[in-house]
Amino acid sequence: MFFHLIVTDDCNLCCSYCRGKMFDEEDPAGHSPGTIDETICENLAFPLTELYAFLARDQHAVLTFIGGEPLVRSDLVMEIMDDAPVKRFMLQTNGTLLAKLPKEYTNRFETILISIDGDKALTDRHRGEGIYDMVLSTANLIRKNGYKGELIARMTIAEDTDIFSAVTHLANHFTSIHWQMDADFTGDFSHRRFAVWSEEYNAGIRRLVSEWVSRIEKTGVVPKWYPFLSTTEDLLLGRSSKLRCGSGYANYSIMTNGWIAPCPIMVGMADYYAGHVKDADPIHLPEVPIGEPCLSCDIYGFCGGRCLYSNIVRPWRDESRLVCGTVRALHDALVENLPRIQKMLDDGTLSMEAFAHTRYNGCEIIP
Ligand code: SF4
Ligand code: SF4
Repeated sequence: MFFHLIVTDDCNLCCSYCRGKMFDEEDPAGHSPGTIDETICENLAFPLTELYAFLARDQHAVLTFIGGEPLVRSDLVMEIMDDAPVKRFMLQTNGTLLAKLPKEYTNRFETILISIDGDKALTDRHRGEGIYDMVLSTANLIRKNGYKGELIARMTIAEDTDIFSAVTHLANHFTSIHWQMDADFTGDFSHRRFAVWSEEYNAGIRRLVSEWVSRIEKTGVVPKWYPFLSTTEDLLLGRSSKLRCGSGYANYSIMTNGWIAPCPIMVGMADYYAGHVKDADPIHLPEVPIGEPCLSCDIYGFCGGRCLYSNIVRPWRDESRLVCGTVRALHDALVENLPRIQKMLDDGTLSMEAFAHTRYNGCEIIP
């Protein structure tokens, strides 16, 4: 099982699509998040012995540190890495404190997701002046210090993102890239030009999928652009997928008070808790399923429902057709280009192993 551990809610940045707009919400969500747990605290505040006893019951447990910015509490991260009965660790970080983490710890992460949105202007506009340079120099430093795990550029995309330019730019620096749309979590739709932008985005995705396949044709290597990688592998194998981020059945989040939520965004949504680390069985946690309208959607097997949080809270109301339209555009672009990939497989210039990747590693897959 994959577990995110929220070590702190504290963060040293104030990104425009995160804390930068938390005080700026106006439109109410479509549905209630249900009972709110008032006992959530800023920093991890339950006995680590309970965490270790919980994790010890799952010999395949994978632990991902997340925040806030988890390295604000690097002391706790290192202590847990020293003592937790876990073989595989991952990290989701904004990259600003990673250079200070001793390499003996950094080099133990199987995967690091590091936040960067595209080129310098775009990244610094959303994340703060100087962040782009800092993240790239940190990425270079950890590689120089012997980091051999997967380093994933984790983008948040918004209405000023040209998806083709941003991804192809980051591909100069990272072999693994994932992006997630700023289309959830706050009721700010009325301030946004999302409707117009989503059309531009869909056109950009068509172009980007074609570029991705061209790169495979030229090199025989499949760039790990996650929204294309996992989905294409399934299309080639004729497989459908449940919720692709794994939340609520393969991926759970341990909050600062020890309660277990289906995903890191569902902090405090007590009606959906899967138990508490002090007495839950990590390999038999209750599933929190996706509901309508996704179950009746004709591309549910491709999309998997996109996002459990959104399926429950419905932050979009009528705008859902735009967000779902981006999923359909992704699906159609991949299907359109599938014969080019199938030809390489048939010719023997490409094998299915080239699509191998770790599922549920923190990439949501469907942007
Ligand atoms: S495209 Fe939209 S309605 Fe269809 S499964 Fe995905 S999120 Fe649900
Ligand atoms: S995509 Fe998955 S991990 Fe992300 S907010 Fe939605 S349910 Fe949570």
